[in-house]
Amino acid sequence: MATRRKFLHNLGLGSAALLTAPKLFANQEIEKRIIKNQFLPPIVISTWSHGIPANTEAIRVLKKGDSALNAVEKGVRVVEADPDNHSVGIGGFPDASGHVTLDASIMDHKGQAGAVCYLEDIVHPISVARKVMEETPHVMLSGVGALEFAIKQGFDRQKLLTPKMEKIWCKWAETAEYKPEVNFENHDTIGLLALDKKKHLAGACTTSGMAYKLPGRVGDSPIIGAGLFVDGEVGAATATGMGELMMKTVGSFLIVELIRNGYSAQEACEIAIKRIWDRYSDDQDSKYFQVGYLALSKDGDIGAYAILPGFQYALAVNGENILVDSDCLIKE
Ligand code: ASP
Repeated sequence: MATRRKFLHNLGLGSAALLTAPKLFANQEIEKRIIKNQFLPPIVISTWSHGIPANTEAIRVLKKGDSALNAVEKGVRVVEADPDNHSVGIGGFPDASGHVTLDASIMDHKGQAGAVCYLEDIVHPISVARKVMEETPHVMLSGVGALEFAIKQGFDRQKLLTPKMEKIWCKWAETAEYKPEVNFENHDTIGLLALDKKKHLAGACTTSGMAYKLPGRVGDSPIIGAGLFVDGEVGAATATGMGELMMKTVGSFLIVELIRNGYSAQEACEIAIKRIWDRYSDDQDSKYFQVGYLALSKDGDIGAYAILPGFQYALAVNGENILVDSDCLIKE
C-alpha cells in the first residue's frame, strides 16, 4: 500500500508541483498555518479504495474541461453501479429488515445542494440528489417521496438487494445481532471532492449506510454539513464512518469553517476528529467507531484524518491516481 510520504515523494512535492501559499489573510499567524499539500487543479480526492475507479472517471471528465459538478456525479456513479461494492448503490448491505436504503448528497461551488435519503430501488441516488438540487426548490427528499420524484424524473426502478447480499442478510437475520464494525472489507461510503481548472469545487457523497441499520435510519451522508459540505470560496469536506458522530458534530461544515479561519485542510480534519474524540470517547458505544474525513481547499490544499488506523483515500492529481493510508488519532 502506498504511504502518504511515498506518494508525496512520487509526485515530486517540495519542487515545482507545490503551489506557493497564497496571501489570503492579513494576520500572519493565520498565514503561517497555510501549508503543505497544495496541488494544481484538476484534483480529485475520495474515500476508500473504491475511490480509485471513481477518481479515474472524475478526472476523465475534468480533463475534457467539464465541470467539477459533473465530475463528482459521474465519479461516484461508477461505485453506485458496482454490484460487488457492498456499501454504495446496488449490491449494498440492506437494513435489518432486508431493504437496501440509500442516502446521497451533492453540492456545487455556488453552495447549491441536493440530497436524498432512505431511497429504495434507484441505482443512482446521487443523480436524484442532483435533480433535487436543480429541479426543485428543496434540498432533501426522503423515502417514498424521493422515489416518486425519481420515477417522475425518468429514473428506472431496480431491485437493489442482489441475490448474494440477500443470502448474507438471511444468514445474519438468523441471529440478527447488530454490531457496527470498523473498517471491514469493502464497507463504507464514497465521498468525492473535486476542484476543476476554473477552481470550482464540488462534492458528492453516496452510501447504503451502516449494514443492518435500524429500518428508517438515515446517516450523515445526505446531511449537508455532516457528510458533505462545499463552500466554493473556501473548501470542501466529506466524511465516512459512523455517521451519528459526524451528525452530532456537523463535521464537514466544521472543517470548511476551520479552513475559512486559516487552518490548513489537514489541520482542519485533525481538529474535527479530535472534536469527536474529546466529546464522545467516554461513551463506550462510540469509542471504537471509525470516522474518516477528507478536505480539499479552493487553493488545492488537501487533508485526510481518521479516528483509527485503516482509513484510506484515493488522490488523483498530476496524472497519478493513488491509494493513500490516512494518518489517524488513535494509533493502536
Ligand atoms: N457514513 C455512513 C453512514 O453512517 C456509513 C459509512 O461511511 O460507513 O451511513
